[in-house]
Amino acid sequence: RRLLLGIAVFFITLNGLWAQNAKVDRKIRDLLGKMTLEEKIGQMTQVNYSEIGEKGWAGGMPARDKLRKALLEYHVGSILNTPGEGADAVMWREVIRKIQEMAVTETRLKIPVIYGVDAIHGVSYTANSTLFPHNIGTAAGRDPELAKKIAQVTAAETRASGIRWNFDPVLGLGRQPLWPRFEETFGEDVLLVTEMGRATIVGYEGDGLKNPTAVASCMKHYIGYSVPRNGKDRTGAYISDIDLRERFLPPFKAAVDAGATTLMVNSAAINDIPVHADKKLLTDLLRDELGFGGLVVTDWEDIIYLKDKHRMAKDNVHAIALAINAGVDMSMVPMRYVEFCEDLKKAVDMGLVSEARIDEAVTRVLRTKFKLGLFDNPYPEKGVEDNFGKPEYAELALEAARESVTLLKNDTLLGNPVLPLAKDMKILVAGPASNSLAALHGSWSYTHWGAKENLYSKATLTLKEAIEKKVGKENVLCQAVTDFHAQANTDPATALKGIEGVDAVILCLGEGGYAEKGGDINELDLPAEQISLAKVAALYGKPVVLVLAEGRPRIVREIEPAMAAVLDAYRPGSKGADAVADILFGDHNPSGILPFSYPKYSGNITTYDGKFDTVSPRYGGKPRDVQWDFGHGLSYGKFELSELKLNSNSIRGGQKLTVSVKVTNTGQMDGKKTVELYTRDLWASVAPDWKRLRKFKKIVLKAGESQTVSFVIDRNDLSFVNRDLKRVTEDGDFEVMVGGMTEKFTYQNSGKRL
Ligand code: BGC
Repeated sequence: RRLLLGIAVFFITLNGLWAQNAKVDRKIRDLLGKMTLEEKIGQMTQVNYSEIGEKGWAGGMPARDKLRKALLEYHVGSILNTPGEGADAVMWREVIRKIQEMAVTETRLKIPVIYGVDAIHGVSYTANSTLFPHNIGTAAGRDPELAKKIAQVTAAETRASGIRWNFDPVLGLGRQPLWPRFEETFGEDVLLVTEMGRATIVGYEGDGLKNPTAVASCMKHYIGYSVPRNGKDRTGAYISDIDLRERFLPPFKAAVDAGATTLMVNSAAINDIPVHADKKLLTDLLRDELGFGGLVVTDWEDIIYLKDKHRMAKDNVHAIALAINAGVDMSMVPMRYVEFCEDLKKAVDMGLVSEARIDEAVTRVLRTKFKLGLFDNPYPEKGVEDNFGKPEYAELALEAARESVTLLKNDTLLGNPVLPLAKDMKILVAGPASNSLAALHGSWSYTHWGAKENLYSKATLTLKEAIEKKVGKENVLCQAVTDFHAQANTDPATALKGIEGVDAVILCLGEGGYAEKGGDINELDLPAEQISLAKVAALYGKPVVLVLAEGRPRIVREIEPAMAAVLDAYRPGSKGADAVADILFGDHNPSGILPFSYPKYSGNITTYDGKFDTVSPRYGGKPRDVQWDFGHGLSYGKFELSELKLNSNSIRGGQKLTVSVKVTNTGQMDGKKTVELYTRDLWASVAPDWKRLRKFKKIVLKAGESQTVSFVIDRNDLSFVNRDLKRVTEDGDFEVMVGGMTEKFTYQNSGKRL
């Protein structure tokens, strides 16, 4: 009877959902029936706030005349970006209210505007918001549940600012460390990016976008943006069809399956075809194969760039036709929107774009607006204003930063590990990252755009300030400088003044703030001035603890041997300095592990999952030589892994293999350990990867405690994309590796050997 009841409830719910969808579809059809071509084109147009703000790029409140032109003359359906430095949640809500008021009272069809921002690591364009670590740090934390909570708080603060669409998360794989947006990725591994991305999307979208604490997510940048061959932002990548499906597609597939509402396109080309003009990728693969039904938006001005940059079209009209026919629904056309609207109309009039394609695109825009509840209430909702700057959000930011910071090295001096440091030591804090918020916040924050003051939580500390707070100002000497390149500022005589009188040096190096092309570099080594500062600091015989605040792994090969300990803080956000100080002085046991392979040489950039001939020491000496490997990260004390057991040494068909391992905290401090399970396919019809991460789990263990961790793997975990671009699991011999232990097993499906 219970089963019957369950089935009945299921069908009633399904029926209800279906009826609701049918109602929305009817409303969309009605609207489409009433819309002129110009009104439809307007819905496909997204303009920058600088075009409607009274102060242009500096924002300010919406200027009525500019807004009238956009909304009433050009029927613009979407706006993006910030109303200017210092805008707090109250101002944001007022901005959105004014825009929506015009949209729903003065336009002919009263269609609300959809407003989007980049809330990449917190709603960074709202003053006093909570900044979380960038994705690269969250990935080091290895906790998808935590990634979900970060997304939930970001969504709540975004919606409390009146905004309902977030251009996040980045689902590209961080496999090209020169790329200036490396910090926005969840690292180099497919599984890690997939799991973190999925959790983030679930966190943003919650159980429905009408909920006033949820935002529409935007998977980006589809696809392959993160691996430009020459490392420069927005330049082309070359990705084989197999690799595209093996590594770059799975995070997007999982995101589509998790219900992501929108998607942004990669600005660059893959295999010589700009993605904005690639119907195979934007329609055949994304729509027909992955089944994505949501809204596709371009990246910044990218349709016009099909002509200006990629030289794929002789004029704007043809560039527009290329992109819209490839599958773009909305053009982020920040400045030249008038041109876009007029030229798209020309393209339709010339028969280059069909009205059916326009209707399809507009349907997706309108459906997104219905899904977000904008037709019910376009205004910033009441009752959610308080979901902003709450103390528990700051707590979460601290937790996230603590989980991410990665202890890469910790020497033992005179029988004792260098870290944690004793709180009564005299400390010199030096180096350009020691008093820089930009180094902690990274991209997509006002700090990196050069804001004059800290616009985030007033409690945000720099590394120097957090260390002073921890051990008392009287114990800290700091020659704080904030220029990451200038010789004058890293001149050892100034920067290390007083070093003779201290017990230890905390040297804070790395990178200042940058974003996108502004962060392009020609070499991965830390700037020469910083290298020489580290070398001089090491000459005084004091233990030097290197703290790196950086968005990508800058090479430290030359100085690493002279450093007594090394911590990578990545871009830890507004509570990052507190987290670093907690770890340096033993109030928190570090547990972050690298989400990428930390290179040792600019000329030897490899990932842990390369092919046998690039990774294995068996072929041609030592081809892979990294500073620290993917998954490396120490803690205070030791976790020992033992007793790797398989429930069988052969599986067939859909059978599952249970793998267990015993983990013991043999140290003196409670702590966390991420257990990672890798598999290796010993031979296959496509050259297999050296090894692949298949499962990971972060556990908490008290000092002295043991726990058995079990994982279940099946044929999906052993599958790969074959020459016919099909995902298959072939019969053969495999290895499973956990914590340095290896066991063999076989998989058999067909009964036939290869
Ligand atoms: C970036 C996108 C971002 C957009 C809107 C572009 O320059 O590539 O990631 O969402 O700007 O700010």
